[in-house]
Amino acid sequence: TSGRTPLMAGNWKMNLNHLEAVALVQKLAWTLSDKKHDHDAVEVVVVPPFTDLRSVQTLVDGDRLKLKYGAQDVSVHESGAYTGEISAAMLAKLGVSYVVVGHSERREYHGESDAVVNAKARAALGAEMTPIVCVGEGLEVRKAGEHVAYTVAQVDGSLAGFSAEEVAGLVIAYEPVWAIGTGEVATPEDAQEVCAAIRARIREVHGDAAADGVRVLYGGSVKAANVAGIMVKEDVDGALVGGASLQADEFGGICRFY
Ligand code: PEP
Repeated sequence: TSGRTPLMAGNWKMNLNHLEAVALVQKLAWTLSDKKHDHDAVEVVVVPPFTDLRSVQTLVDGDRLKLKYGAQDVSVHESGAYTGEISAAMLAKLGVSYVVVGHSERREYHGESDAVVNAKARAALGAEMTPIVCVGEGLEVRKAGEHVAYTVAQVDGSLAGFSAEEVAGLVIAYEPVWAIGTGEVATPEDAQEVCAAIRARIREVHGDAAADGVRVLYGGSVKAANVAGIMVKEDVDGALVGGASLQADEFGGICRFY
């Protein structure tokens, strides 16, 4: 009873062409309506590749589906000579409501620093979309017992210069890198420990309204079978789901965790 609406976001990564995307969203919509899913009680977001967004928009608008959709990345630039980049305005024009920024795969394979993540989150906000800011430690940091300090520092850097009001509306995803796509799930206690530390830090820097409003998700090998144990934790407001979001039944089960 935190007053925060739980959020389940499915990051498809570089999978599914636009036809497969439409098929998955249709199947997900059927699954959710079958389960009598209450979209006001638990927000459902799919995060397809850029090339699927127009098709997903057409389907969501045409069938008046209640699910929302997001993008996996955004340019820090507004427009101009940036070949291959996609701007926040372009995404907003396609009805995108969320933008994942700083996913560990972007940080690792594309060298995205907290400063870049910060600029991307800023760009998303500037086009009235909600950033899902990803943070989380790798295995070495976890083994050294420095996961809380490391993750909280990423939050500080990624949200530097944001107002309390902006932070209140944000989504932060805690994704321990060692638990992504490995089948290795952090325990509910592990998830709670870091999600609580993130919220405590936000309370310290931005105040109560920001800390009580910001939604903190857990991500890393979440499945229908393990989601409930994570969701009972006080500071976990939802999940960022990779692999399991590519199957309608599985992701539908995650959305219907309660
Ligand atoms: C992710 O990459 O955001 C993720 C959580 O992946 P998976 O669920 O496959 O571990």
